[in-house]
Amino acid sequence: MTPTLEKIRNFIDGQFVGPTGDRFLDNIEPATGMPYSLVPDSDGRDVELAVVAAEKAFADWSKTTVAERSRIILSIAELIDRDLEKFARAESIDTGKPLALARKLDIPRASSNFRFFATAILHTENEAHVMDDVAFNYTLRQPRGVVGLISPWNLPLYLLSWKIAPALAVGNTAIAKPSELTPMTAYLLCEICQEAGLPNGVLNIVHGTGSNVGSAITAHNKVGTISFTGGTVTGRKVAEAGAPLFKKVSLELGGKNPNIIFADADLDAAIAGSVGSSFANQGQICLCGSRIFVERPVYADFVARFVEKTAQLKLGDPLETGSDQGAIVSQTQLDKVKFYVNLAQKEGGTIASGGKAPPAPNERCKDGYFFPPTVITNLPVGCRVNREEIFGPVVTITPFDTEDEVIAYANDSEYGLASSVWTQNLTRAHRVAERVHTGTVWVNCWLVRDLRVPFGGMKQSGVGREGGNEALHFFTEPKNICIAK
Ligand code: NAP
Repeated sequence: MTPTLEKIRNFIDGQFVGPTGDRFLDNIEPATGMPYSLVPDSDGRDVELAVVAAEKAFADWSKTTVAERSRIILSIAELIDRDLEKFARAESIDTGKPLALARKLDIPRASSNFRFFATAILHTENEAHVMDDVAFNYTLRQPRGVVGLISPWNLPLYLLSWKIAPALAVGNTAIAKPSELTPMTAYLLCEICQEAGLPNGVLNIVHGTGSNVGSAITAHNKVGTISFTGGTVTGRKVAEAGAPLFKKVSLELGGKNPNIIFADADLDAAIAGSVGSSFANQGQICLCGSRIFVERPVYADFVARFVEKTAQLKLGDPLETGSDQGAIVSQTQLDKVKFYVNLAQKEGGTIASGGKAPPAPNERCKDGYFFPPTVITNLPVGCRVNREEIFGPVVTITPFDTEDEVIAYANDSEYGLASSVWTQNLTRAHRVAERVHTGTVWVNCWLVRDLRVPFGGMKQSGVGREGGNEALHFFTEPKNICIAK
């Protein structure tokens, strides 16, 4: 007998409810290729219910004291920490990422997001501008109302909480939509919000597809603020939907991040760091360095050692201890990765490692979506594989001869999210960092994140910044009050 699959439900006005149309989609475990729960296939009617609840809740939540909002949001952080193992397992099953990674990265970062903004609001300062004998101005930063929060599947709770925490902390109420591919930890978060005493309607989560739920949120005239993380093509649709209504929109989009290795770098550190930045989370982090450029004197050595270290990554059942690489999130994403690996060969590339579907790690995972970490060399810098975002475990390595040349390579992209520079020459590090067109430049490191710094992309990698004061400002409306002296 087929077991009954657990039904995830929406969270609207503090209640768990099924979708109005009573339609559900299969939620597939990427490691097995099998459905393991059902996710609501909600639509505009469910979004409407959520907007009504959020509007109603805004009246009280926006007036709740900062200390009380901080207390409730801190309590959410503590409850996530308490349930770390449950959340990590759910994230691993939903996404295919190694359980160890979810335990170390995704879930601790989600609780840090809540803790960071719960405490940040205790320390904000208001601006005042005094005009000689004429007047005195002060600026209030007030919550904007009902906000829409839309996030992707690669770091589900990590990225959704990065939006929910600042939005709620400053007094907004929210309608959030996780990716339909990875809804489980958002669902578990709702249970925690109830336990923490978050008032009904402050956070509403509506599950379903981007075309039904996402577009209903972005088109809704009462949702004046949209924070979106996802692909550049979808970001464009979100911007188009928001423009006629003059919505305030933050867009965190795709990337094709350069990783520059100079010959004077500490090669052991650069190789270890670059293997991590290429393949962490199966290469499905927007910040992964997908284009490695290596200065020619160390190119051959770098490639040989990089390939050797890549081969040591253990691809396995994400739930098993010792698996460094898990499954790709979906069949569609796996097909996309395979397409680009084939294309790389047509474009003249050499597969230096990986490139072919591996044997299943075990019987349970025989139909899972696995692909090995893949290293490609000998590609021209301007080819499609070097220009288009793959968002999988595929990296290219290209030699360069001069600093100017590599800066031109790095900047020859429609994207500008993040970059890494490896060198022991401090002057060069500053010089190159200044000239690379990306929102973040890491020097001799990768994915080191201080939650206070501005985070976001240039060019088609996004509009606006998240993090620290940037997020607090995005989710508030500044109002100047001018008092005559
Ligand atoms: P996506 O297809 O753009 O989807 C992102 C979210 O938008 C999902 O919840 C999606 O729902 C929803 N959506 C789809 N169509 C929509 C529409 N017309 N209106 C409103 N919402 C809509 O991206 P993804 O494939 O999930 O994620 C991978 C992409 O995200 C990559 O490009 C990656 O670089 C980017 N990313 C960027 C950052 C950053 O900080 N810059 C971080 C992580 C990921 P469905 O899931 O139902 O389609």
